[in-house]
Amino acid sequence: MNILEFKEKLRNKIGELLSRSEREKAIRDHHAKRKPRPCGMTIHTGIGCNLRCTYCYIEDMGFKWSIEPYPLNGLQLVYALLSNPYFVPGETGTLIAIGSVTEPFHGITKKKTFEYIEYISKYLRNPIQFSTKMYLNKEEARILKNIEPTISPLITIVSIKQYRKLEPLAPSPEKRFETIKNLRDAGLKPILFLRPIIPGIIENEYYEILEKAREYGAIGIVAGSLRVTPLILERLRKAGIPVDEIVRRIRKPLKPNIQVSVDTSDIKKEILRTAEKLGLIPFPEACMANIYTHGYICWKMISKGIMRKREGLLPRLETSEIIREAEELGLRINYLRKEDYKLKIAITGPSKLKYFFIEYIKCKYKICVQETRTFK
Ligand code: SF4
Repeated sequence: MNILEFKEKLRNKIGELLSRSEREKAIRDHHAKRKPRPCGMTIHTGIGCNLRCTYCYIEDMGFKWSIEPYPLNGLQLVYALLSNPYFVPGETGTLIAIGSVTEPFHGITKKKTFEYIEYISKYLRNPIQFSTKMYLNKEEARILKNIEPTISPLITIVSIKQYRKLEPLAPSPEKRFETIKNLRDAGLKPILFLRPIIPGIIENEYYEILEKAREYGAIGIVAGSLRVTPLILERLRKAGIPVDEIVRRIRKPLKPNIQVSVDTSDIKKEILRTAEKLGLIPFPEACMANIYTHGYICWKMISKGIMRKREGLLPRLETSEIIREAEELGLRINYLRKEDYKLKIAITGPSKLKYFFIEYIKCKYKICVQETRTFK
């Protein structure tokens, strides 16, 4: 059975457990339509968020500063994902990221988040990662530890000294360090999520955050940049956060509702270098942390010197096998070449199927895939 047949069979099985109206609602949902992002398929367990972090972009995306659980049940979410033409199910399928536009362990969304995790784990088994600022107690950590295959926890801490101005309604960094400890004590591999990097603030704080995270049991760090809009800059200013350094690092003109990355590549490198010296695994990207937690490493981790072979499973790359798999799905490969940590590929076939296949080989072989039309 090829991957598409497997996906269809599983979708039919789940569909039988739902009523017609439940199925229709799932198919209409955006989880059934969106393409996965580089970090994986973002799963929303709530709509909106009321923690009002000063640097948050959800308002610019049209979400409200209020929070409610996502309207699909766990089975419907699984059905929506299996109806998504780009989603690859299975342990070596699409990475799942929970926590992008809401807080998944807020009191209002927590039950739904546990439900989604349970159903994804039971029926799909895709690698799940979550990011949170909430306090997770020992019992919750124990429940998460029992998830199979395991789960990748990212705990967000971006400042200790200025957190009240940046995250006025979130639990204190101290509680989040305790979350790291509870997760580690339960046997999980918690990772510090230092995102967004806020220039002008983080320079004086990162060492302390890294040291404390390691002391409480974090095994690594994911660092990531800040994205701003005119609204976010205004909120930061009003909260009393110095924005000169942020503004100095913006490389594109600001426009309403358009998120622009703040160039903090130099600070990020420095943070990751220091983290490594302190004994934390320095992941430049969240997807790497998810892959690593699930026992694998990717070709980019090797190329960038983050991991050595044998520190995780690195799938063998057989071009003849990839060509065979493409043909089985009715696709034709015109060009295929591995260049450093990237696989360059030119394929002929229907566009949704091509995208699905690219996602499939990216996840299965743990390699960045770049579609090319030039055959060069
Ligand atoms: S917790 Fe996340 S989603 Fe909620 S306001 Fe803060 S940054 Fe935004």
